[in-house]
Amino acid sequence: MIDKTRLVDTFLTLVRIDSPSGHEERIGRYLLDLLRDLGADGHMDDLGNILVQWPGNGPGDAIMLNAHMDTVGTDRGIEPVVREGVIYSRGETILGADDKAGLAIIIEVLRVLRDHPDFPHPPLDILFTVGEERGLIGARGVDMGALRARRGVVLDSGGPIGTIVVAAPYQDRHHFTVHGRASHAGVEPEKGINAIRVAAEAIAAMPLGRIDEETTANVGVIRGGVATNIVPDRVDVDSEARSRAEAKLIAQTEAMIRAFREAAQRHGARLHVEHRRLYNGYRHAPDSPLVRWIAEAARALGLTPIYKEAGGGTDANVFNERGLPTVVISTGQTAVHTPEEHIAIQDLYDAARWVLEIVRRGATTQHPK
Ligand SMILES: [Zn+2]
Repeated sequence: MIDKTRLVDTFLTLVRIDSPSGHEERIGRYLLDLLRDLGADGHMDDLGNILVQWPGNGPGDAIMLNAHMDTVGTDRGIEPVVREGVIYSRGETILGADDKAGLAIIIEVLRVLRDHPDFPHPPLDILFTVGEERGLIGARGVDMGALRARRGVVLDSGGPIGTIVVAAPYQDRHHFTVHGRASHAGVEPEKGINAIRVAAEAIAAMPLGRIDEETTANVGVIRGGVATNIVPDRVDVDSEARSRAEAKLIAQTEAMIRAFREAAQRHGARLHVEHRRLYNGYRHAPDSPLVRWIAEAARALGLTPIYKEAGGGTDANVFNERGLPTVVISTGQTAVHTPEEHIAIQDLYDAARWVLEIVRRGATTQHPK
């Protein structure tokens, strides 16, 4: 039923439409037109997210199918190249299979449903989001009240087809500003408070990198200083921490703040700290109805379900937090966010078959909320 050639054509077309985060208008309009040609009345919200309510013909609860329209970074003019059954970029840019593979698969599934009116399926809420790579911006703005779905599937992971992301981390972002005191570095250094030194001691003292199996932390940006002959009076530091266990995340964020506080105190510097929860994590038991439904669809096609605990967030974090039980599945996207990004055509095809089977099985399954 899935038309491999048509699926690949859709994917290649989408890859060629520039859509770095913040610039999704063109791909949004393209997808709206395409959905209209399929007989679906799509709606674009103020942020640029696209929602289509596709009617069902079975008694099952409505399903949300989601992929994001933006691509990471600023790459434009992406030109896909097919080599031995694998699609790459030309090597200077990302490919954008993250997440155009998800978009192409959902479009292909809708085409199958249009061509086969008797194929059983529940109502589908098709949701294409903006700004995922910039911190799940589009998903946060979705009017959840407009969704009929009681369960969701996000097509936005790598790994062998059959991979189901059952858990994802919580993430905190931090911003530290160390206010020291400027002075002439050669004439009267003792009058200064070196903000770079304070930040360096704080960073050296804090736990970073892989903290444990489900917790990570990183200092990613540091800015400060003007010249070698001035004791620097200000340093700004951006960092993050993630954990699939909320208590561990809270402890990690506290440890990072404590390290800055202690270093600032030692040197008499003033410290300004901002931190916020970027998103909340989630976890679904492998024997939950949601995960079982997705896993059984994989098994029915001879695929092996793989339960993955992710190290990063996706739009699914927002949907789960807002009461829509959602898992993320693999589309075959590989080496994402790098010029080596690629996707095997067979994976793209198998992922589309899997989604179609998920939809078919959804026609007869209710999902207890
Ligand atoms: Zn993605």
